[in-house]
Amino acid sequence: MLGAALPLTLQWEEVRRALRGEVDQAAFGMWLEPLVCVGQEGERVVLAVPTRFLRDWVDRHYADRLRALWRAVNPGVRAVSVEVGAPAAVGSARPERAGRAAEAGTEDGAADAAAARRPSGRVPAAAVASASVLEEISAPLDPRGTFDDFVVGKPNEFAFAAAKRVASSEAPPFNPLFLYGGVGLGKTHLMHAVAWHLRLHRPDKKVIYLSAEKFMYQFIKALREHDTMSFKEMFRTVDVLMVDDVQFISGKDSTQEEFFHTFNTLVDRGRQIIISADRSPSDLSGLEERIRSRLGWGLVADIHPTTFELRLGILQQKAQRLATPVPERVLEFLAQRITSNVRELEGSLNRIVAQAQLVTRDITIDMAQEVLADILRANDRKVTIEEIQRKVAEHYGIKMADMHSARRARIVARPRQVAMYLAKQLTPRSLPEIGRKFGGRDHTTVMHAVRKIEELQSADPALTADLDHLRRSLGG
Ligand code: ADP
Ligand code: MG
Repeated sequence: MLGAALPLTLQWEEVRRALRGEVDQAAFGMWLEPLVCVGQEGERVVLAVPTRFLRDWVDRHYADRLRALWRAVNPGVRAVSVEVGAPAAVGSARPERAGRAAEAGTEDGAADAAAARRPSGRVPAAAVASASVLEEISAPLDPRGTFDDFVVGKPNEFAFAAAKRVASSEAPPFNPLFLYGGVGLGKTHLMHAVAWHLRLHRPDKKVIYLSAEKFMYQFIKALREHDTMSFKEMFRTVDVLMVDDVQFISGKDSTQEEFFHTFNTLVDRGRQIIISADRSPSDLSGLEERIRSRLGWGLVADIHPTTFELRLGILQQKAQRLATPVPERVLEFLAQRITSNVRELEGSLNRIVAQAQLVTRDITIDMAQEVLADILRANDRKVTIEEIQRKVAEHYGIKMADMHSARRARIVARPRQVAMYLAKQLTPRSLPEIGRKFGGRDHTTVMHAVRKIEELQSADPALTADLDHLRRSLGG
C-alpha cells in the first residue's frame, strides 16, 4: 500500500532536487530536465519524456537512481517507469512562469522554476500551433527554387537524388538528410525544391523551412515572451523541418540544446528533418560532439564544387529563360572563367544581359570581359583543390584519378602529397576538407603529407623546383 505523505508532485520535486544534486548540471539539463511526472498506477510512478531517444537514455542511465531516490521519498513506490509522452502532456512540463525565470537569469533558472512550480501534467490548450504561426515562421520560398529549375551534374547528383527521394517518400527514407557544400552551390535551392514539391503534392503536410539564425531568433524571442512552450509545440507538430546553414547554431548553448531536443522529438515521431551547412557534421566544430554525431546518423550528402559542364548547363538553362539571347560562346566563356559558385555565375549572366538591354549592345566575349572585369579578377585569384590536383597530375605525368585512388606506390603517392601540400598552402580549405577531396582521406593523412613535403624540400632541390613551378603556374 502507498504511504505517501506528500502529494505526487511534491514527491517528484524531492526526487528531482536530489537528482540535481547528484548529476552534472549539463547532463541534468539534457536528460532529466525534460522529465515530467504524469501519474501513478499502484506502486508504479510514471514519468514521461518527449522522445524515444530520451526515454532510452534515461532508462539506461538513470532508472536505478530514480527508483532508489523515489523510494527514499516514498517507500510505497516500487517502480518508476519512463514513457514517451503525448506532446500535449509533455508540453505541460514548462509552465509559463519558467520563461519569466529564464529571462531573469540563465536557462538553469528556467529549469529550477519549472521544477519548483510544475503542476502535474495537464494539457495547455494554447500549446497547439496554428498553421498561420507556422507560415509566419517559415521563410518564403524562392519561386525559382524547384527541382525542375535545378540543373543536375556530377557534383550535385547525389544531393539532388537524396532531396528528391525525401520529397516523394511517405516516411523519412533517412533522417536527417544533411546537405553540405560551399556557398552558392545549391543547398538552399534543394531545400526549397523539397518544400515546393510537398506544397504541390502533399498540401496536408506541415513544412517549415527556416535558417538556423531564424531558429535561434525565434527561440530567444520565445524565451523573452515566456512562451518557450508554444515554440516547442509549434516545431513538434511539423512534418518536415528544414533548417538552413546550421553552422550558425554553433556556440549558443541553450539554442543548441533546444535545437537538439526539437530534432530528437521530430525524429522519434517519424518526421523528416533536412539540415544544411557549409561543412560536414564532423567539421561543425562549434557544436557539441553528441549533437554533431547525431546529425550524421541519417544521410550526409555532399555538394561538390561545380565543374565546367555543370556551369555551362546552368547558364544554358538560365539563358533560355531570358528575353535576350546570349551566344553560346559567351556562355562557355563565363562557365570557364567564373568558377566560384552558381550564385556569382547567375549574377554575371544577369549583369551582361542587363548591360546589353540598357545600352543596346551586342553580347560578345569582349563585352563580357569588360562588364565583368571585377568578378573575373576575383575568380582568377582563387585556386581550387581540383585545379591543383590537375596541374600536379599533369606535371608528374600521372592520372587525375590517382589523386583520389588508394594506390600507395611512390610514383603516385609523392605527387599526391605534393598536391595536398599545395592545397593547404594555396587554398583556405581545412585539413579534413582537403582529405575529402583526395578520395576521402583522413585529415591526419593530409597533415602527414604537409609535414613530409616540408621536410623533403630542404634536402631535395628538384622537389623545391617542382613546387616553385607548380605554384607559379597556379598563380599562387
Ligand atoms: P547555397 O544555399 O548552397 O549557398 P543556393 O541554393 O542559394 O546556394 O544557390 C545559389 C544560387 O544558385 C541560387 O539562385 C540557385 O537557384 C542557383 N543554383 C545553385 N545550384 C544550381 C543548379 N544546380 N541548378 C540551377 N540553379 C542553381
Ligand atoms: Mg543557402
